[in-house]
Amino acid sequence: MSAAETAHVVAFAFPFGSHPTPLLHLVQRLAAAAPTVHFSYFNTKKSNHNVFSKANLHVYDNIKAYDVEDGLPEGHAFSGNPLEEIEFFIGATPENFRRRLDEIVEETGLKATCLLTDAFLSFSSEMAAEMGIPWVAVWTAGPTAVSIHSYTDLIHGRLGQTGHPENQDQTLDFLPGMAAIHASDLPQEVVHLDTPFSRLLHSMSRSLPRAAAVVLNSFDGIDPVVENDLSSKLRKVLNVGPFPLPSPMPPSDDQSGCLSWLSTQSAASVAYLSFGTMLTPPPHELVALADSLEEKQIPYLWSFRDNSKINLLQGFFERTSSRGKVVEWAPQLQVLAHSSVGVFVTHSGWNSVVESIVAGVPLICRPFFGDQMMNRRRVEDVWRIGVGVEGGIFTKSGMAGALNLVLFEEEGKKMRENIGGLRECALRAVAENGSSTQNFKSLVQIATSSHQD
Ligand code: UDP
Repeated sequence: MSAAETAHVVAFAFPFGSHPTPLLHLVQRLAAAAPTVHFSYFNTKKSNHNVFSKANLHVYDNIKAYDVEDGLPEGHAFSGNPLEEIEFFIGATPENFRRRLDEIVEETGLKATCLLTDAFLSFSSEMAAEMGIPWVAVWTAGPTAVSIHSYTDLIHGRLGQTGHPENQDQTLDFLPGMAAIHASDLPQEVVHLDTPFSRLLHSMSRSLPRAAAVVLNSFDGIDPVVENDLSSKLRKVLNVGPFPLPSPMPPSDDQSGCLSWLSTQSAASVAYLSFGTMLTPPPHELVALADSLEEKQIPYLWSFRDNSKINLLQGFFERTSSRGKVVEWAPQLQVLAHSSVGVFVTHSGWNSVVESIVAGVPLICRPFFGDQMMNRRRVEDVWRIGVGVEGGIFTKSGMAGALNLVLFEEEGKKMRENIGGLRECALRAVAENGSSTQNFKSLVQIATSSHQD
């Protein structure tokens, strides 16, 4: 086949938080399913380094990774604003991706035949239209969050431009499937439209109906009302997850020793604590959390890598070293799958929630931002597979109560049954004729046929 005839799927990553890894895993699945198709994965240098050093990646000949500019001025000194890096990156888009793509096409002779991009990068819609190729948007979170973004304008109409404080307790029952979500659960990027990041997401909400398909790390049946509503508004919604299930679990060399340590603990006794790729709770909450674990004598495995705060917990880690372990990075999928883990204390990031469902481990949620508050509502009020912390923050007594509830009380047992039910649903979706399997086949078709429908 000549270069001109080869299908060439170009993936654009949003280089922050947990976004790039699930996109890369999806590209890998596609590359395995379509070995004659060429895949290019575009990401910033820093994020490429991060993703490729952490993930247990199988090497495919038909995937090539490329660096794009991050927009940071040479020698830039950061101010401490967590959004700063994101804003520089947004400032560099879409020209950084466009330039790199032109170079790659020139170098390889392979024209792009599909843009498969993080949904956040909604400029891809116009870029794909200019090239006359399909845009496939990958939404790395769940159906509730993408649906909420799609209703940004309507929410503003109902709740006011700035999310008035008196509206915070109001539920979003005027939106399909959102009766459990409160105004206070909304991501700041939906409430305030005045930052480059929120403008990017607002533009995404308007672009998604133009995508040939929107792909989700989710499975049919997890939120049927929201799923049906999304399907009525978007051209094609493809739940192809949960992402961790269709691919066999990556082999782990257990370098961190987490799995061997877990094997020394009793069944369903350990609290696994992790707050994702970007977060550490504030100091007083860390102390309260540690105090509750110490008081209840709960064995714990803690993924903790914020050196600026570790001193706060040094005494706790030393006093409890016989029943606790702290690591900088845990092989989370394998940890959650270990029979000794009884509860996941989490910030409720979507990947973490999905991974807990896949493993059948109930959750204690302390959400911070983005979709995390909405995920917590689903976990606690809709699926009943976990509980949010009392008052929304870690306190010693609130956390001790939550640990008790999930690990030792009847309600915790019920949560385990409920999460087992969701897990079964996920397993059916990825079975041979399951919905996620079928959706993945449709995705392969859309992404790799070299003309626009
Ligand atoms: N993760 C991991 N080990 C750790 C901490 C996090 O493997 O010690 C992974 C976790 O399995 C998940 C991702 O990092 O896939 C975090 O994604 P999530 O959506 O939960 O949170 P975010 O980082 O986007 O806030």
